[in-house]
Amino acid sequence: MIKTLSIAVLPSVAADEPGLLRIIAEEAGVKKNAVTGYHIIKRSIDARGRQPKVILQLQVFINEKVQDLPPFDPELQDVRHAKPVVVVGAGPAGIFAALRLISLGLKPIILERGKDVRSRRRDLAAINKEGVVNPESNYCFGEGGAGTYSDGKLYTRSTKRGNVRRILQLFVHFGAEPSILYDAHPHIGTNKLPQIITAMREQIIACGGEVLFEHKLTDILLNGDQITRVNTSAGTTIACDKLILATGHSARDIFELLHEKGIEVESKPFALGVRIEHPQALIDQSQYHCTVRDPFLPPASYSVVAQEYGRGVFSFCMCPGGIIAPAATNPGEVVVNGWSPSKRNNPYANSGTVVAVDEADYAKYGFKGPLAGMYYQQMVERQAFETGGGRLVAPAQRMGDFVGGKLSQTLPDCSYLPGIHSAAIKDVLPEEVARALKQAVVDFGKKMKGYFTNEAVLVATESRTSSPVRIPRDKDTLEHTQIKGLYPCAEGAGYAGGIVSAAIDGERCVEALVNSLT
Ligand SMILES: Cc1cc2nc3c(=O)[nH]c(=O)nc-3n(C[C@H](O)[C@H](O)[C@H](O)COP(=O)(O)OP(=O)(O)OC[C@H]3O[C@@H](n4cnc5c(N)ncnc54)[C@H](O)[C@@H]3O)c2cc1C
Repeated sequence: MIKTLSIAVLPSVAADEPGLLRIIAEEAGVKKNAVTGYHIIKRSIDARGRQPKVILQLQVFINEKVQDLPPFDPELQDVRHAKPVVVVGAGPAGIFAALRLISLGLKPIILERGKDVRSRRRDLAAINKEGVVNPESNYCFGEGGAGTYSDGKLYTRSTKRGNVRRILQLFVHFGAEPSILYDAHPHIGTNKLPQIITAMREQIIACGGEVLFEHKLTDILLNGDQITRVNTSAGTTIACDKLILATGHSARDIFELLHEKGIEVESKPFALGVRIEHPQALIDQSQYHCTVRDPFLPPASYSVVAQEYGRGVFSFCMCPGGIIAPAATNPGEVVVNGWSPSKRNNPYANSGTVVAVDEADYAKYGFKGPLAGMYYQQMVERQAFETGGGRLVAPAQRMGDFVGGKLSQTLPDCSYLPGIHSAAIKDVLPEEVARALKQAVVDFGKKMKGYFTNEAVLVATESRTSSPVRIPRDKDTLEHTQIKGLYPCAEGAGYAGGIVSAAIDGERCVEALVNSLT
């Protein structure tokens, strides 16, 4: 017999195979040795009660041979001689687009401005140790895009737009832990992503695709409204009648190029603010109602949201046991983001905490037109750089001091490697953003015990939450509304936010492109 069970067990029991089997048998109403095996369908943590529990949905085999889960077929084939399609950007969208092109019988040619993951590592070291940003190779640009040295949280809300399970299965196929298939909040970790991305690239090349590093797209050439060729920074011109543009939200030169060429782009709202870092132990105490975290529980996370002065304020990309990363793409700007290793074993918990901004905000600072949000974003990042004093040192303030309007006399230890400098965060952020943020941290403290504390530090500025620009496309064909053969894709074009949704959009663009060929 095969039975589906949902059980709630202590974290220590969930980690102890014989103990878990005993409970499964009890719940199934059979003797322990009648349980021949089980598959976990879903695993989550319920921390609402005083004693956190692990919730497991299981497929249990009773007196029956355990059936393997159906094998996953990535549908790869030789596309050496197939029709080529140019994919610009080797982020999650570009890589998953390339894999989908292969599975549908087309040859991907990926153009990537940055370097392969291994060479990219040296440029990240220069950012962290010397505060020097290479505008072509950094935390956002290079193989794997912003996804490679990201946190690798794979939770997404975009389940209606595409096949999330297929994306997760591809990650597992290329080396991720199978637990991402059943964890409610799957996470890979920065230390594991580079090998997975490398395996994906090697497979693309083995199937006959091409991956050209240090090939920045510099121009798009048209015949009327049809795309015909692209120029690259390597001095090459590549003929193409179909192009997937997956350059991410930090490729400001691409937004400028399109605008200058009269290819329509639109201003869009986004959100900006700070990273807030707490001691992880404090978040554990608050979320798990304990003094010391049960060693069988993962470091706790949180998610907070408020409406302040008519604006949404929310936590974003929370990294338990994480590090605040310097994610600028140009010299003279400070941008922060966050990541954590697979074990999430750093003593800090950080989270982007951001305020919604829109065209009215951009206009207040004199920015108008389709690129207004991008220039507003850049203005704040430059202000953060100036206030930090250079070398990517970030302005920072204790939470209580920020709300009380005092400069912090001392700052707590912080995971941000280029260093932090005591400053008034209200002078870095636009006034309306600082005002909403101030009220929000007070309100979050009322909802979450321990959150509002002077042990927490605000680090500016978290500004690359989503793209400030949209590249419009037809909702059915996914082609640009004016240009034939151009497929604006994923986060940079305004259609995704995060690794999985970017990967899904990469696949969707390919499927639409293939439909146009039939
Ligand atoms: C530190 C950090 C942590 C993050 N943590 C998470 C997380 O835990 N979970 C999550 O879901 N998301 C996370 N994100 C966000 C996530 O990485 C992005 O949402 C995702 O990578 C977007 O995918 P994309 O393919 O659309 O764009 P990108 O990943 O931005 O990729 C775009 C690619 O295009 C290339 N490119 C740009 N311009 C050109 C050009 N002119 N020519 C050629 N190539 C070009 C870039 O070099 C880059 O490789 C994190 C991001 C950062 C920086």
